[in-house]
Amino acid sequence: MTDGSVYEELGVPTVVNAAGTKTRIGGSRIRPEARAAMDRAAEQFVRLSDLQAAASDRIAEVTGAEAGYVANGAAGALVLGTAACIAGTDPGTMARLPDTDGVADEIVMARTHRTGYDHALRTAGATIVDVGTNDATLGTGARNVEPWEYADAIGEDTAAVAHVYKSYEGPPLAEVCDVAHDHGVPVIVDAAAELPPKSNLSWFTEQGADLVAFSGGKGIRGPQTTGILAGRADLIESVAAQHLDTHATASVWDPPGRLLDADRFDGVPRQGVGRPLKVGKEELVGLLAALDAFLDEDHEATLAEWRDRAESVAGDLDAVDGLSTTIEDGAKSVAPTVAVTVAAERAGASAADLVLALRREEPRVFVGADGVDDGTFAVSPMCLTDDEAEYVVERVRANLADESGD
Ligand SMILES: *Cc1c(COP(=O)(O)O)cnc(C)c1O
Repeated sequence: MTDGSVYEELGVPTVVNAAGTKTRIGGSRIRPEARAAMDRAAEQFVRLSDLQAAASDRIAEVTGAEAGYVANGAAGALVLGTAACIAGTDPGTMARLPDTDGVADEIVMARTHRTGYDHALRTAGATIVDVGTNDATLGTGARNVEPWEYADAIGEDTAAVAHVYKSYEGPPLAEVCDVAHDHGVPVIVDAAAELPPKSNLSWFTEQGADLVAFSGGKGIRGPQTTGILAGRADLIESVAAQHLDTHATASVWDPPGRLLDADRFDGVPRQGVGRPLKVGKEELVGLLAALDAFLDEDHEATLAEWRDRAESVAGDLDAVDGLSTTIEDGAKSVAPTVAVTVAAERAGASAADLVLALRREEPRVFVGADGVDDGTFAVSPMCLTDDEAEYVVERVRANLADESGD
C-alpha cells in the first residue's frame, strides 16, 4: 500500500488509532487551526518570555486561575509545578534542584493516585509520601483515603499535595484542597486527560487547586509536545524562572514583569531544572490556537459524533462470531468507548493474539489493550474517522477469519 506520506518516505508504517489519545502512537489529530498558526509562528522570531506572558494571560482568562504557562506536556507541567512548590522564588534552591538537601521536598499523595507519571514529580527533586490504603478493593466499605491522613502526613518537610484526578477516584478534590490549605501547602492536580468538557478548564481551580496540569495534545488537540499549567501567579513566576532560558547578564536582564518580576530576584537565576523541557514558539502558538478552537467547538456535537461511531463499531463487532460488546461511558475516558470481549474458542484467537496481530499489520491497527490479559480489548472513537472505524472492524474480522483457518 502506498500513500505518498512522509512516513512512507521514512519507511515507517502508519497507525490507525482506535486506542484514543495515546502519546506513544502520536496522540491526537492536531487541529488544522493549530497547524496553520504554527506555520505562521515560524516566520518570525519572538522572545519566549513575552510569548509565555501572553499565554499566561490567555490561560488565566479561560481557566479562572491567576496565571498560566505552557509546558512541553502535562508531565512536563508537573515537573515545573513541583519545582515551583519546592523552590518558590529562592534562586539558590532553584539552582540546586533536583538536589533538595535542607529544603522541604515532600509531596503527599494518595497511594491510589500513584501512576507512572509521578516520575515527573520526582524529576524535580520531590520525595513522594503515600497516604491511605487500597482497602476499597476489599469490598469492606472502607475508603481508600481519609482527609485526616493527608493532615497527618503534612509536616515541615511538605512542599505540596498532589492529586491525580479521575472522576471515579476519591477523595473529593475540594476536601483535599481544604486540608492542604489548612496546613499552608499548595495542591498540584494532574488533569492531563480531563478535557473535554470545557467546564473542566476552570473546575479544578474552582475546587481550590493551586496548580492544574492539562495535556495540550489530548482533548485540546494541540501539538503533542505541549501542556498547560494553570495556577497561582507566584508559583507560575517560579515556573517561568526555572523554565525560561535565563542565560543573561544582570545589567540587561529584562523579563516581562507580569510573568516574572526581576526586582524580586537578587540576580539572574541560573538555568533551572525545567530548562530541558523546552517549548518552541511554534508549539506554543499552536497550542493557543488549538485552545481557541477547542473553546469554539460544540462539544455536544463532538460527543454525539463519538457516540455514533462507537455504536456503529459495537454493532458491527457484535455480529462477529466470538465477540460481544458493550459501550462504556465516560468513567475512564472522556469519550464513550467500545469494550469488546473475546470468547477465544469461538473467535479462533485470544484477545492478546488478535491485538498483537493488529499491531503488526501495515498500517498498524492499535486498539485499547488494557484488558487484553482478561480477554477484552477496546475501541475508542476519539482519533478515528468513520472510514478508519470501518477499516478497524474489517481488520478485526479478517484476522479472526484467518485464525479460524477456513
Ligand atoms: C497523558 C497523561 C499524562 C501525560 O501527559 P503529556 O501531555 O503526554 O505529558 C499525565 N498524567 C495523566 C493522568 C495522563 O493521562
